[in-house]
Amino acid sequence: MAEFTMELNDEQKEVRDWIHGFAADVVRPAAAEWDEREETPWPVIQEAAKIGLYSLDFYAQQFFDPTGLGIPMTMEELFWGDAGIALSIVGTGLAAVGVLANGTEEQIGTWVPQMYGDADDVKVAAFCSSEPDAGSDVASMRTRAVYDEAKDEWVLNGTKTWATNGGIANVHVVVAVVDPELGSKGHASFIVPPNTPGLSQGQKFKKHGIRASHTAEVVLEDVRVPGHCLLGGKDKLDERLARAREKAKAGGERVKNAAMATFEASRPAVGAMAVGTARAAYEEALEYATTREQFGRPIIDNQGVAFQLADMRTQIDAARLLVWRASWMATTGKPFTSAEGSMSKLFASETAKKVTAQAIQILGGNGFTREYPVERMHRDAAIYTIFEGTSEIQRLVIARTLSGMPIR
Ligand SMILES: Cc1cc2nc3c(=O)[nH]c(=O)nc-3n(C[C@H](O)[C@H](O)[C@H](O)COP(=O)(O)OP(=O)(O)OC[C@H]3O[C@@H](n4cnc5c(N)ncnc54)[C@H](O)[C@@H]3O)c2cc1C
Repeated sequence: MAEFTMELNDEQKEVRDWIHGFAADVVRPAAAEWDEREETPWPVIQEAAKIGLYSLDFYAQQFFDPTGLGIPMTMEELFWGDAGIALSIVGTGLAAVGVLANGTEEQIGTWVPQMYGDADDVKVAAFCSSEPDAGSDVASMRTRAVYDEAKDEWVLNGTKTWATNGGIANVHVVVAVVDPELGSKGHASFIVPPNTPGLSQGQKFKKHGIRASHTAEVVLEDVRVPGHCLLGGKDKLDERLARAREKAKAGGERVKNAAMATFEASRPAVGAMAVGTARAAYEEALEYATTREQFGRPIIDNQGVAFQLADMRTQIDAARLLVWRASWMATTGKPFTSAEGSMSKLFASETAKKVTAQAIQILGGNGFTREYPVERMHRDAAIYTIFEGTSEIQRLVIARTLSGMPIR
């Protein structure tokens, strides 16, 4: 009989404790400062690079962990430290995954190391898909990529928005339309190498939370990239487009909205970030509730407070289990027949918003001030129900998957 275990193995525990140490000793103490500065915490990224935590090697090791728990474990611990700083550290990984998933071996070998740089000269990368008129509705994307056969170059034009590390990245991965007739099936991803003329940063957003993470528009004006920057290569793209055109002609498969159908495998990682933030706020609230006294006894002595903490912890553990299940399914190739990836992201992100709000309530007036970290955690938690597909989009994906109906 197959062995069933939910225990991390010794190696995983060691890695988890190592990340936790960095989160507790380096990330958490820097959190308030970088939240106020609203700038990329380069010195913290550099510290992470020095110990090998910010590196392609470490990320790839966790990505290819055969149990699937490497990435969720990493995310939970780092985001427990601080969400804004953690996103500055893992944001590059999101772009790297774009290349790992679609790129040739040569493209992976050439570009992914340039995304990270090295400990003496750290770099970051950006993944640019969202546009002002194409957020949840990815199929409305307008950024165009046109092939200039004579020069074997692609020419990119358009405006991307909400790009994490957009404009400050060494390497940008840009999703663009190559065949407008095919909706999201007519999209392709391109590498924009360092210092390519025509790519510039537009507005940098001032945000509600995760303020240490840089979020900006990326403007592409006649950006010319060599043919080899098309991820996967031209032959593969031509084959894929031909298949999609055949299907569209036959009136077969509906051209799906990519934001709703894909990312099922990457969503648990965002769920794990949410679990990290929720756990951090819960721990603050538990500690406070056991030490703060009113009416001559600790406030946790009141069922009204103690039961809130019981619910918070129960929901956090349930969220983690959904995240672990989905991550395990993704790694072991189990089909997401019930949109389990979306379920995990939906539940964990909503839990983080709820739990961080409860933590503020338990800390009373102190919870409402910047003297205590829970108000920052609550502001940070709001992002999880928005990026990588909003909660409404997760519900849409789950409902469509369960019913097989084109629910709108
Ligand atoms: C801090 C931050 C970082 C980000 N980083 C990146 C990044 O690195 N790269 C990148 O490409 N993108 C990034 N994004 C973009 C993010 O993925 C989008 O914001 C998200 O997909 C939602 O798109 P939108 O903001 O245009 O909202 P909209 O799609 O306009 O949605 C607005 C509201 O309408 C609801 N809604 C829309 N359609 C439906 C529907 N069919 N049914 C029910 N409700 C619906 C939504 O749920 C939401 O509540 C980032 C965003 C933020 C805020």
